[in-house]
Amino acid sequence: MIEHQGSCHCGRVRLTLRSDPTEASECNCSICRRTAGLWHYCPPESASVNGDGIAYQQGDRALDLWHCPTCGCTTHWTPTDPTYPRMGINLRMFDPNLWRDLPRRLVDGAAYQSSGS
Ligand SMILES: [Zn+2]
Repeated sequence: MIEHQGSCHCGRVRLTLRSDPTEASECNCSICRRTAGLWHYCPPESASVNGDGIAYQQGDRALDLWHCPTCGCTTHWTPTDPTYPRMGINLRMFDPNLWRDLPRRLVDGAAYQSSGS
């Protein structure tokens, strides 16, 4: 069984990914362009998170963006609608060998935001 372990810098928030990412997504929305997350999108059952992160909701509140309260790393996002079948894992929390050479996909999240910030 595939299992990749990642964590924030201090280790307070730990991520387990049970699939192999095949691409890495960069989003230009107002929050992603600041945090510089490199996203792997997957069904919630393909990943698990341990630790007490802090959730931040922006704009339309469709998702919670989680970060570590100690070291500040952005670790993942989860949908606020629990039936939405997708979450995002920040690949930068994992060994670079997992994501360094993956093709990048540019996501135009800014186009879906009602107001710039
Ligand atoms: Zn941390």
